[in-house]
Amino acid sequence: MPTPVEIALARLEELGAISDAPSHLVRTFLSPANREAAEKILSWMAALGMETSQAPDGTVRGILPGKNPSLSPLLIGSHYDTVIDAGKYDGSLGIIAALAALESLKLETITLPFPVHLLAFSDEEGTRFQTTYLGSRSITAPLDSETLAAQDAAGISIARAIATESPTATAAPILYPAGTPRGYVELHIEQGRVLEEAHEPACVVTSIAGQSRLTVTLTGRADHAGTTPMPLRRDALTGAAACILAAESLAQSSPPLVITVGKIQVHPGASNSIPQTATFTIDLRHPDDEIRQNSLTRLHESYLRIADERQLHLHWLPIQDNNATPCDPTLTASLLQSLTAITGSTLTLPSGAGHDGVAISKICPIAMLFIRCRDGLSHHPDEYATPADIATGIQILTHFLKSHNP
Ligand SMILES: [Zn+2]
Repeated sequence: MPTPVEIALARLEELGAISDAPSHLVRTFLSPANREAAEKILSWMAALGMETSQAPDGTVRGILPGKNPSLSPLLIGSHYDTVIDAGKYDGSLGIIAALAALESLKLETITLPFPVHLLAFSDEEGTRFQTTYLGSRSITAPLDSETLAAQDAAGISIARAIATESPTATAAPILYPAGTPRGYVELHIEQGRVLEEAHEPACVVTSIAGQSRLTVTLTGRADHAGTTPMPLRRDALTGAAACILAAESLAQSSPPLVITVGKIQVHPGASNSIPQTATFTIDLRHPDDEIRQNSLTRLHESYLRIADERQLHLHWLPIQDNNATPCDPTLTASLLQSLTAITGSTLTLPSGAGHDGVAISKICPIAMLFIRCRDGLSHHPDEYATPADIATGIQILTHFLKSHNP
């Protein structure tokens, strides 16, 4: 008979093969592949003897009763949607590893005192609607009208997608009033290189970094590339270049601050025209909210200076401002004990990437376990975690479930 780890490895391949595209992996909110993945996960939960259900937004839940029905449930899980051209591990591993940990307990004929609710979220990445944490937000409160009105590239709103594409459009939502779950635990690949550098298979997460996103537009004057001498130019793109380098040097001088310019648009965008406008995005993250805000202020001041020197107009447009989410000290200490028991390590890390725990922290304490991934690569088809590291992650989760004090 295959072991829970062997089953988990096979399931990663099975889930990784369910895609909306023939050439690469992609599963977005309520897409055919997303719905097929949900059915697969439901069947795995049912095989474990869980009581299963699916919310209208696609969130899948399996309930494993505990010995004491009056105890509040422990939530465990991750998301089953993906980015475009994704790897097989981001999200899926957290669901499959949780199933394997529960299988391991079953093999040991252990019934936990408290119920476990395994949750698989239909959307965390926000690939289809540019929203984040859609599935995990929906278990904390009904989705608000602004979110439900968000549209995909085809003009279909979330509300319409649920009404017309969800296999369980009229089912009861899965909702947890604040304070009702005892906690939420998630295993996830690190999506960075720190564990690899430290030669450690896993670590416990201390907090999920706060994040600011904004759009910056510099406006100058479009002129002829051949007839306008250099001193007379008001070139928006060279101004943007100075701004982007200023962001890089600010982040380099204040680790663990990270700043990324991932997108830039230039108008008119012709080889023989001096750029009139340059619009670029800023993604700025730091685990400490005060330092993040101070860094934003410093960046803004340097941009005002650059714009002034170059006679450009600066438009600074904040898009998103999320505070850091600290993991719960008690639940995290308990997960750290399990990490140490299995690996001997006491390594902890802040998460630079966002996770479902950000949304779920509104209703209960959260804790996270990171598993090493090759080259820190994620959101990429070459994303990979070794079977040995996955086995270690499952062991840590199993140990945590067994030793968690109700
Ligand atoms: Zn993820």
